[in-house]
Amino acid sequence: MQRRCTIIGGGAAGAALVAQLARKPGAPALDWIVGAPAPGRGIAYATDDASHLLNVRAAAMSSIGGAAPGDFAEYLRHRGFDHVAANFVPRALYGDYVQHALAQAGHTPVVHAAQATALHALPENRFEITLDDGRALVADDVVLAIGALPARALPGVSPAALASGAYAIDAWHDLAPSQAPEHVLVIGTALSAIDVLLTAAQRWPRAQLTAISRHGRLPRLHAPGVFAPFDGADALLARMASRADAAYWLRCLREAAQEPDAEWRAVIDGLRAATPRLWQSLDARQRRRFLRHLKPLWDIARHRVPRETAAKIDALRDSGRLRVSAARLAEVDVGDTRALRVRLRDARAMPTFETDFAIQATGLDLDARATSHPLVRQLVDDGLVGADPLGLGLSASSDGRLLRTDGSAWPNLHATGILLSGALWETSAMREIGAQAAALAERLGSTNP
Ligand SMILES: Cc1cc2nc3c(=O)[nH]c(=O)nc-3n(C[C@H](O)[C@H](O)[C@H](O)COP(=O)(O)OP(=O)(O)OC[C@H]3O[C@@H](n4cnc5c(N)ncnc54)[C@H](O)[C@@H]3O)c2cc1C
Repeated sequence: MQRRCTIIGGGAAGAALVAQLARKPGAPALDWIVGAPAPGRGIAYATDDASHLLNVRAAAMSSIGGAAPGDFAEYLRHRGFDHVAANFVPRALYGDYVQHALAQAGHTPVVHAAQATALHALPENRFEITLDDGRALVADDVVLAIGALPARALPGVSPAALASGAYAIDAWHDLAPSQAPEHVLVIGTALSAIDVLLTAAQRWPRAQLTAISRHGRLPRLHAPGVFAPFDGADALLARMASRADAAYWLRCLREAAQEPDAEWRAVIDGLRAATPRLWQSLDARQRRRFLRHLKPLWDIARHRVPRETAAKIDALRDSGRLRVSAARLAEVDVGDTRALRVRLRDARAMPTFETDFAIQATGLDLDARATSHPLVRQLVDDGLVGADPLGLGLSASSDGRLLRTDGSAWPNLHATGILLSGALWETSAMREIGAQAAALAERLGSTNP
């Protein structure tokens, strides 16, 4: 009998797998639980703000469903966007492309516009998946492609501040204050925060903006053009692999970036394919040290911002509308003259001030130990799947099979995307998600009699 597979999650990761499976002759019958109204776009590609750009040049953006590299740039050319292959184009265009690729895919899944809320193991290695509309599906294989977990308020944000409607914990959905704010605080200075600042600047043209993060550093810039790979990548990798020590790695990276003619971006990009292997060589103590000391530097160097985006941020700073500071959030409560009173820690200036609206843009939440996501909560509480001990998603093997709490791998319960961060570290971008979809499609196709 043909096997049945359920994919949970209607973002680009789910779409990539659907499109890959469409190419497989022995593919299982598919149920796709999409949750969202426009399957395929997910969080990243649902934005309609044209200032939200891809952080990869169009030509290098991954193709969906195993199409030839450059398929996205080709799609853009067909739509009349000539000469954009080397550009950073709006993310919405990639969402269009994913939906186009889905429409082209031959094998169509049964799409369920619902949320999966629970999963239970049945006899004979099958699963029952409960939906929030009261239905249940049965599957031989299940793939979690649910992206990140729901955002949680940072410690120190009072219940009254949350209830005021002036504190947005989800930068992607909650940007609707009751009236146009005159001052907005953005918590975070990485890529999500950049998106939020651009939207806020446009939506509320009179608002003053303040952005804070522990280091107050904005992401580094993409190079003006394409650069050659780093010549010393193999030697650097061998050196790093010889000692599983985060501090030593930082030294290796700094030294490599200082070599004559070395382009630091090429140094860091040269590690990409080997990152999961390097990450897996770290023990728990070293992983903690990596997260504490190397991650902030890694994030700004690895996740770079297009120059035109940076120019917009610079213009906001130069005009005096935006202030970026190094500080940590200590407390947010309701204010006297404005909606919120904010107290900062380690701030050089203005440790306390009031703001009309605060937006939490500190990155994606991955902590399955503390999440309110109903399905993940149930999986972890019932002991079906372990939570990553460092809060980096779900416990999984390096090929994306989820692990039970005793450490054994489910043969037929898989995950893809950012919830595999604890297993792979480098797993959030379309390049990795596309590769995972290809490997999963191979595995799911080959189990079909
Ligand atoms: C703002 C942003 C910009 C990015 N830019 C780039 C870029 O330029 N280039 C690049 O390569 N990568 C980029 N990425 C990284 C990566 O490409 C995206 O995160 C990718 O789209 C992830 O897709 P996903 O399907 O894993 O997750 P998501 O986009 O989060 O989609 C998951 C979907 O599953 C749904 N879901 C969750 N739980 C359930 C449930 N129980 N039942 C049903 N549905 C559920 C969610 O509602 C959501 O719609 C970006 C990421 C973000 C957040």
